[in-house]
Amino acid sequence: METETSLYPPLTPKMHTWMNDFISDPDRVKNVIKQFGSPVNLHSTTPFIENYESYKRILDKYELNHLICFARKANKSKTFVKAASDHGFGVDTASYRELVQCLEEGMDKDKLILTAAIKNKELLELAIQNQVLIVIDNLDELKLTKTLAEEMGVKAQIGLRVGGFHYNGRKLYTRFGVDIEEAKDFILDHIKSANEVHFRGFHFHLNGYSIDERAKAIAETISLVDEISKYEISTEFIDMGGGFLINYLEDQEEWNEFEEELKMAVQGVREPITFQNNGLGYSMNDGELTGKLATYPYYNEVHKEDFLEAVLTYPTGKGEIATLIKDRNITLRMEPGRSLLDQSGMTLAEVVFRKYDSQGNLLIGLHMNKTQLFSSSADFLLDPVVLNYENHADDEPTSGYFVGAYCLEQDVILKQKSTFQKYLTLVT
Ligand SMILES: *Cc1c(COP(=O)(O)O)cnc(C)c1O
Repeated sequence: METETSLYPPLTPKMHTWMNDFISDPDRVKNVIKQFGSPVNLHSTTPFIENYESYKRILDKYELNHLICFARKANKSKTFVKAASDHGFGVDTASYRELVQCLEEGMDKDKLILTAAIKNKELLELAIQNQVLIVIDNLDELKLTKTLAEEMGVKAQIGLRVGGFHYNGRKLYTRFGVDIEEAKDFILDHIKSANEVHFRGFHFHLNGYSIDERAKAIAETISLVDEISKYEISTEFIDMGGGFLINYLEDQEEWNEFEEELKMAVQGVREPITFQNNGLGYSMNDGELTGKLATYPYYNEVHKEDFLEAVLTYPTGKGEIATLIKDRNITLRMEPGRSLLDQSGMTLAEVVFRKYDSQGNLLIGLHMNKTQLFSSSADFLLDPVVLNYENHADDEPTSGYFVGAYCLEQDVILKQKSTFQKYLTLVT
């Protein structure tokens, strides 16, 4: 007889040594939950530093002046600020608290950047006072920055966020920054002769995970750099933001199979592999399968430093991206958030109950709720690791859904159906 394991396509996660080491002692896991309650988020800065170093190696390989800033919005734990500070890289901050904590940590102010989408007076004052580079998003923000800088008698350090890059005959939509086509006039009209601010460079952050779009955006920004240099405006840096892909999974085939099985389930050709047959982006429309997977792409052949290298070696009519940057002596900045954290954290949660719902699905109640594993992805597509604390002679694989503590039908921690041994008592 086929086991249920083959019925529910596995998604085997990549796991760093520290994770395997930690869970290799089930009593330690139990004690941590006892001490701190459930769920517990565990962090290790070892992979965080490894990830930083692999980005740095690539930037050094192409002999680029560079600064890597960790985008704190990906995880607000102060541990990562301290680790960045100790290892000489920077932090990208997106709110007053994020910035003030970095300053309190004693971080090198030259390695801090403020990209917050909303910058009120208090936040701008804090940045100006500390000479933290402010990435200007719009004219109102620039005007307020100038006014405050003048009042404070300090020159504000600024960069300009640009967007609306041209890609394959269309413009990439963004709600952020100044349109790349208007940036030159914006600088000439509002920045060039303003004594209150010191212009240092350009910044962008693209939605999505396209190598091509990033390379084209850098190339278009370089054209702008060349254009404004005719007006004696020099550009110290280009900041390419974040959005570097990660690979979370061991096996590409498992990933492809999951998607195929999901499509079949949505079409009703096989039993559901997700809670209430959630299509995770797919749905049926007039008998036709439509949509696409709305989750993070968990498996990626080209990820992290290889992704960066692919951007740097991207050919343009005037040479590779890295060459264009180097020839102009521009510092390349980047702001990876999520990808610097790859393998740096895991969530432990306690199993509280096992039961069947009104359709006969096995539900595993976890002492946590879905916001504690919240993601913008339609689901978190990695198999959880299940630790068993009881030995049963007749233990066999079974499958079900992990549900959480909110009194909401939707509080399902993982929408995918998971396979595990029957007698589970504690989950990570
Ligand atoms: C979100 C964000 C980042 C980091 O993005 P990741 O996908 O986490 O690498 C960097 N810069 C800005 C301005 C952002 O908004």
